[in-house]
Amino acid sequence: MKKILALLSLCLVVVLLSFTSLNNKKLVVIDAAHGGHDNGAAKNELYEKDIVEQIAKKIFQKNDPSKVEIVLLRDTDNFISLEDRINTINELNPDLVISLHTNYHSENNKSGVEAYVSAKNSQHEASTEQARKLIEAIANEKLQSRGVKQANFMILRKSNCPAITLELGFLSNENDRNYLTSEEGQNEIATNIIKSIQ
Ligand SMILES: [Zn+2]
Repeated sequence: MKKILALLSLCLVVVLLSFTSLNNKKLVVIDAAHGGHDNGAAKNELYEKDIVEQIAKKIFQKNDPSKVEIVLLRDTDNFISLEDRINTINELNPDLVISLHTNYHSENNKSGVEAYVSAKNSQHEASTEQARKLIEAIANEKLQSRGVKQANFMILRKSNCPAITLELGFLSNENDRNYLTSEEGQNEIATNIIKSIQ
């Protein structure tokens, strides 16, 4: 009987260990903002909701799932409330959530990529560190860095994991707009985001 119990507990340890190693893989949630009736920013019939959805899908497609598991909150043009997004994020309990947006300003010379983190997020330090990495990876000669800033967006406050809002560039700026809507620019952004989260 003792031998059987010992064998059973050994089996249990093996099973637990294999689950632990599976769970060691990083889980990152990509939140393509807006969607459905909520277009987000718009310029010349180009919509923020479409651009962030396209980039989110490219992140998923280019990612190597043996390194990082990626979950997209939205991969079709549907509306999801902020509450539903936050509930899903907290159910998934990921290592990181990145909310993708594009910026807009009445002064069309404003340009570049910026990240937001919240001091009210339980993991503000980890969020800030990852946000710096993201900006460093994405910014280049075509998309200047505007750095990491503070904001109290609900998705940042209420997600129980490191959380970042990325404003990928200004739809109101011609250079940013061309980069954000080009196949080449979207591929570059997606690849650079993946590099910085691995
Ligand atoms: Zn937005």
